[in-house]
Amino acid sequence: MAHHKEERTFVIIKPDGVQRTLIGEIIGRYERLGLKLVAMKMLVTNEDHVEAHYTLDPTWRTVTGEKTIKSYKDKGLTPPSEDPLEITAKILLGLKKYMTSGPIVAMVWQGAHAVKIVRKVTGSTEPLSSDVGSIRGDFVLDSYQMSDTDSRAIRNLVHASGSPEEAEMEIKHWFKPEELTKYRLIADEMLYDVNIDGILE
Ligand code: ADP
Ligand code: MG
Repeated sequence: MAHHKEERTFVIIKPDGVQRTLIGEIIGRYERLGLKLVAMKMLVTNEDHVEAHYTLDPTWRTVTGEKTIKSYKDKGLTPPSEDPLEITAKILLGLKKYMTSGPIVAMVWQGAHAVKIVRKVTGSTEPLSSDVGSIRGDFVLDSYQMSDTDSRAIRNLVHASGSPEEAEMEIKHWFKPEELTKYRLIADEMLYDVNIDGILE
């Protein structure tokens, strides 16, 4: 099995993150965790690439629809539909428009628990209920109600992989193997070395 420090996750700063001039802030949040940036590029994507990205995980349509329905019910509200797939079909239309509206920044971060720790710092999907201190909780104010009223995707600044398996599929979808850089980060020694020696002279 690969060492924990080999785990990778895939992140996109979405068009609103770029337009809100939060690129540096967002990268800084992941960088200061101790994760290592191993790939990064700015690009404009297209609708087919966005649809393929969100449907790499065959369960995404169901899970995302169900998550939306639950969020409405938890707030004592009526969801726009009881059919998760009907909800996700609409979300996907909105996502294609949102994700292609301007440049995005795609990144790969590596380190122990990369997937979980990036999701924690990113915050949950709906900014209205994301934790204070998370990127989605601190820098934006969208809600399911707002986005559904206007039939658009939730604007939550960032995409981050949901599992290590999803991350590996997404990295392949967005990067060529040669775009990933293997290098030694000196700070890694402080995080992972068993014997912290060689510091004192
Ligand atoms: P996450 O990005 O937190 O992993 P999902 O994978 O469930 O969330 O959904 C992907 C993206 O689709 C979200 O980040 C958000 O931009 C958008 N989205 C999800 N659910 C809804 C919804 N009910 N209404 C509008 N947009 C949504
Ligand atoms: Mg997701």
